[in-house]
This record gives sequence, structure tokens and C-alpha cells, in this order.
Amino acid sequence: MGKDNNPIDNQINRRQWIFKASALSVGAVSSCACLGGCRSTPVTGRRQLILVPESREMALGVQAFQETVQNETPSQNARLVSMVKRVGQRIAGVAGRDDFQWEFHLIASDQQNAFCLPGGKVAIYEGILPVCVDEAGLAVVMSHEIAHALARHGGERMSQTMVVDGAKRVASQLAGKYIPDKQALLMQAYGVGTKYGVLLPYNRRQESEADEIGLTLMAHAGYDPTVAPAFWNRFGETKGAATAEFLSTHPSDQRRSADLLAKMDAAVQIYQGVPNKVGRGEEIS
Ligand SMILES: [Zn+2]
Repeated sequence: MGKDNNPIDNQINRRQWIFKASALSVGAVSSCACLGGCRSTPVTGRRQLILVPESREMALGVQAFQETVQNETPSQNARLVSMVKRVGQRIAGVAGRDDFQWEFHLIASDQQNAFCLPGGKVAIYEGILPVCVDEAGLAVVMSHEIAHALARHGGERMSQTMVVDGAKRVASQLAGKYIPDKQALLMQAYGVGTKYGVLLPYNRRQESEADEIGLTLMAHAGYDPTVAPAFWNRFGETKGAATAEFLSTHPSDQRRSADLLAKMDAAVQIYQGVPNKVGRGEEIS
């Protein structure tokens, strides 16, 4: 309600509007009969249960981001820093979240890592750039991470943890030792941290959902979506044995490529309708 008065809607094409509308429908959906905890993900429309208010999640995200970025060294490569900002701004421009305070940082670290926190705080680690190969490859990883935040996958994960931990928490409260560390929970839920040094996976359903939303986002942003399966194949080939522990929950690379290819026609159609295409953009070397 009232969202379609946004003047920006008049400047974007119909498909972008659909993306914005589905992203913005969150508020309307959450007033359903599920005690305020139900919502739908953008693009895929999956129903999800989230117990953390979005405003709280965003406030925690901003705080967690500031603390994380303060402890990291910013990249000194001006060309790549500006590429990260450029790609991020193009994706943010079609993400339908004008209320986010978007920020895009490139961190000097050889980790193959990236994340986006609620509120639009994005960090890319230099180590993942060679896997990206070019600007469109960077758009794959950025739009995938942004998709996790738009779909509030971390909030969903936090909520599941809260449900599972509920009984334990009640017991702690009764014992007078209730120590809620929502920020640590959020950082864990959104894959912030250096434990493995590579992109942390969500559950399979959230991963394929982020792939689908990400593909839609990058196409709207004018990046050639057909580069996505190759990016994930390269990423699969470079991840180290040390990561095998958590990669058991990751969709297999073949499955991921097949799922992406199944969504590709729709993404290519969106991409073809975008007036200012970037294509594959600049190379990363
Ligand atoms: Zn992911």
C-alpha cells in the first residue's frame, strides 16, 4: 500500500517494477494470520517464518559490518575498489530497497569470501576476484550475496536457531544466566567471519533461491547472466579440502549449474530488455 507512489517506479521498466514490487510486498505479506512472523521471499515467493523484526536485523547488520570492516585492511587497488562499487551500485539500483544504506567495500585479503548484511552492507574479499574473471563474474557473486540479504536468509536462519534454542534459553533465563548475543548470531547467520575463509553456504533451498534471485538481479542490472554457471564451476574447482566440512550442505556444482541453466531463459529475456547493458564488463587481472 502506498509503495506504487514511488516516483522511481516510473523510470524503470516493467520487469524491474515486478522485481521491486515483489521485494516490497514483504510488509504487506507479513500482516497475514501467522502472528506477524510470516513473509514471502522476493522473486521466488516462498513463504518463510522470521521471528526477528527487520528493523532489528538491519540495526544489528550495520553494527556487525562496522566492527568487521574496522578489523580488516581496505584494498589498495583503486581500479578494483571502483569496480566493486560500480557493480554494487548497479545491482542496488534494481534491488527495490531504497531504504537500505548501501555500502560496498573491497577488503585486502586472499580469502575467497564475500557477504551482504541486512541494510545493504556488502564486503568482497580480494581472494575471490580471480575466480570472478571479469565484472560480470563479480556481479554473479555480489548479486548472490545481496539476494541472501533481500530474502532475509540470515534472519530465517536466526529464527530457526531461536526456535531450536528456545527451550535452552528458557532454562538459562530461569537460572538467571540469559546472555543473548544477537549480533554474534546474526554474523554467523549471514556468513560473516573468517573461520573457513571462503563463501559460507546457507541451506540448499536458500542457496538455490539466492542463485535464482541473484540471476534475476544481475540481468536487471545489465550483466550477462550466462556467465553464472561457469563462475560456480570455477568456484567449485578452487575451494580447498579444508572447506569440505561445511560444503556437504552446499548444492553440488553440477546440480547448481543445472538449476541455473533451467532459469537462464527467463534471465536472458530480462537481460535483453535492459537498455544499458554492461555485458561482461571489464576484465579482472
Ligand atoms: Zn550463498
